[in-house]
Amino acid sequence: MSVWLHENSWYELAERRQRAKDVIIIPVGSTEQHGTHLPLGTDTMVAMMLAEDAAVEADVVVAPPLWFGWSPHHMVLPGTITVRPEVLIEVISDVIESLHKHGFSRFVIINGHRIVNIPWLQLVAERAQRLLGVKVVLFDPAYMSKEFVSKLGYGPVGRSEEIETSQMLYKVPHLVHLEKAKDNPVAKHDLYSVDPAFAGDTLCYVPSTVKDMQRSVEIAGGTTGTPSRTTSEQGEKYHRHLLKNLVTVIRQLQGLSKSEERDDVQS
Ligand SMILES: [Zn+2]
Repeated sequence: MSVWLHENSWYELAERRQRAKDVIIIPVGSTEQHGTHLPLGTDTMVAMMLAEDAAVEADVVVAPPLWFGWSPHHMVLPGTITVRPEVLIEVISDVIESLHKHGFSRFVIINGHRIVNIPWLQLVAERAQRLLGVKVVLFDPAYMSKEFVSKLGYGPVGRSEEIETSQMLYKVPHLVHLEKAKDNPVAKHDLYSVDPAFAGDTLCYVPSTVKDMQRSVEIAGGTTGTPSRTTSEQGEKYHRHLLKNLVTVIRQLQGLSKSEERDDVQS
C-alpha cells in the first residue's frame, strides 16, 4: 500500500492515519533553476524522497508535495516559478487545517528548498500550533546534516552543489547530467554566511539579488559549489543520515500523549 495520501482511497486513509498515530509528512520544495546538471524540481524531489523513505520505515502518511517555494532570486533563469511567501503561508495553513479536520494532528514539514523557505514555514508552524492545537515540526536538510557534512568532505551550502548533486545521483541518477556540471566554489563572506554547518553562520538570510545571480549564471550556469567532486556513494551516506534523523523526529511525535501534543488553543 502506498504511503502517499493521493494514492489511497478515503477509506484506506482513515485506517492508515490510525496506524501512523496521526502523523503526516508534508514535502515542500521549489521549482527553480538548478544549474546545467540538475532538474528544476530538485528541491521538491529531495523532500519527496526523504518523505517516502521515512514514511515506509515509520508507517506514516505523506501529503501531496508543494512544488512551489519562494525563489525570487532564481527568476534570472527560465523554468523558475516563485510564489509570494504570503500566498505560500496561506496554502500550507489551509493544507494543515484540512488534514487536521480529518484527524491528523502531528505534522512534519520537510523543506527541500533549504534555508530559504524557513522564514515563512516558521510563521505557518506557529500559527497552526496556536490556532489548531497541533504539533508542527520543520525538517530542513541543511540544519539536520550540519554535524555530518564535514565527514563527507562537502563544502558549504550553495546551489546545485555537491550536497544536492550527490543525493540526486544516489536516488534519481537518470535525471543528473554530471558531464554538464560546472564548478563555482562558494565565495567566503566575512559577515554573511547562511550555512548552519559553519562557525561563520550569521543566521541572516536575504535572497541574492538578480545581479548576484547573473554572475553565477555567467560563471557556472547557475551553480554555486563544486558538484564535479561528488559521488552516488556520498549521496547514499548523506541520505541515510537525514533519514535516520527524520525517523527519530517522527517516532518522537508518535510517542507524545494527547495532552503533550495540545497547547492552549486560542480562537
Ligand atoms: Zn536546491
